[in-house]
Amino acid sequence: MLELYIHIPFCVRKCNYCDFLSFPAGKEIVERYVRALEEEIRRTGEAVYGQNGRPGETVYGQNGRPEEAVYGRAGGGKTEVRPGSAPKISTVFVGGGTPSVLEPEQIRSLFSCLRESFLLEADAEISMEANPGTLNREKLSACREEGINRLSLGLQSADDGLLQTLGRIHTWEQFLYNYQDARQAGFRNINIDLMSSLPGQSLENYVKTLETVTALEPEHISSYSLILEEGTPFFASEEIRRQLPDENTDREMYEKTKEILHEKGYERYEISNYAKPGFACRHNLGYWDEVPYLGLGLGASSYYKNARFSNETDIRTYMENPFVPFLGRNDYECCDEKSRMEDYMIFGLRKMAGVSLSRFEKEFGTAAEEIYGGVIDRYVGMGLLVLEGDRLRLTDAGIDVSNRIFEDFLLME
Ligand code: SF4
Repeated sequence: MLELYIHIPFCVRKCNYCDFLSFPAGKEIVERYVRALEEEIRRTGEAVYGQNGRPGETVYGQNGRPEEAVYGRAGGGKTEVRPGSAPKISTVFVGGGTPSVLEPEQIRSLFSCLRESFLLEADAEISMEANPGTLNREKLSACREEGINRLSLGLQSADDGLLQTLGRIHTWEQFLYNYQDARQAGFRNINIDLMSSLPGQSLENYVKTLETVTALEPEHISSYSLILEEGTPFFASEEIRRQLPDENTDREMYEKTKEILHEKGYERYEISNYAKPGFACRHNLGYWDEVPYLGLGLGASSYYKNARFSNETDIRTYMENPFVPFLGRNDYECCDEKSRMEDYMIFGLRKMAGVSLSRFEKEFGTAAEEIYGGVIDRYVGMGLLVLEGDRLRLTDAGIDVSNRIFEDFLLME
């Protein structure tokens, strides 16, 4: 199993709180970037499957019989695969930035390149992030036709005043049109991103956003508390700091998120992520379960064959040479057993379902209790972790201090 992340670093305008690798760019740069990204996709596909094992070329399955079709695209072509030797792509996540700044033709060409270069599972989850103000019906139809089956919409708040403070380019009404168009285009799996603890935001204002948004019945909602990131206009502004809700209000917003979303039928499956049954984001669950992934595009990071590495972050350098062999990346780092154990516990504990201790033993040949016995006992004793059968998970109280707990799962040299 393998996941793909594709980064589109462009936004119409930079939001006041954002420190992601994203920026505005002219049409010409966007077009050149898409071409470069396609080259990276093709050459990464060759690196994964080998020159002769690429989709589209004849490859034979077990018993010498060609296997058929792993493409999810309606009416799409057939591909022959060699089972067991070619990792199939279980999820694709096109993130940003704002991938919806791409024109329909660019979306089509990107996906056609992707399907020629990688073997997608027939039921692959294919998500794309989109921001209101950059979407229209034509783009939404192009996305559906290319097999995108999950849309993640950045709303942040239903309050136009707050949207303006955040530097967002859209209003609530624009979001609503886009949401309805997305439903009309056939999207049956939509996430809405929200933020809490915004400058000048009251508890009532946040609750109103939660209620307005849940009334639309999206399948998935993410809600994160605003963090002032260094280098952003918010970070530098004393005025913004003064307007931030106090700790108690922040806490109440957090509690209200749990309460209201639970009432409305959303299951919390990760610290900040909620979904209707069956709609948890498979791509993100993969990250927390350490499924290997390849990041394509500017600055994208990868975890592949037990190594972590990432892409160039300067767009001009990236466009000149979009593919660098994995082993040639400056930050290429093999994950030793110790760091894999840490990742297993720390990423896994982010999920409300926690981690399986028997799977730990199977993967590492050592019982988790032997490595982490002291930490587990201490936090179970304090009521911050709970052990239920084979699974270890954070309690509600544990989630509140999760970062502190995660630190204790780091193993000393
Ligand atoms: S739209 Fe998203 S990625 Fe773009 S600047 Fe705003 S927060 Fe950052």
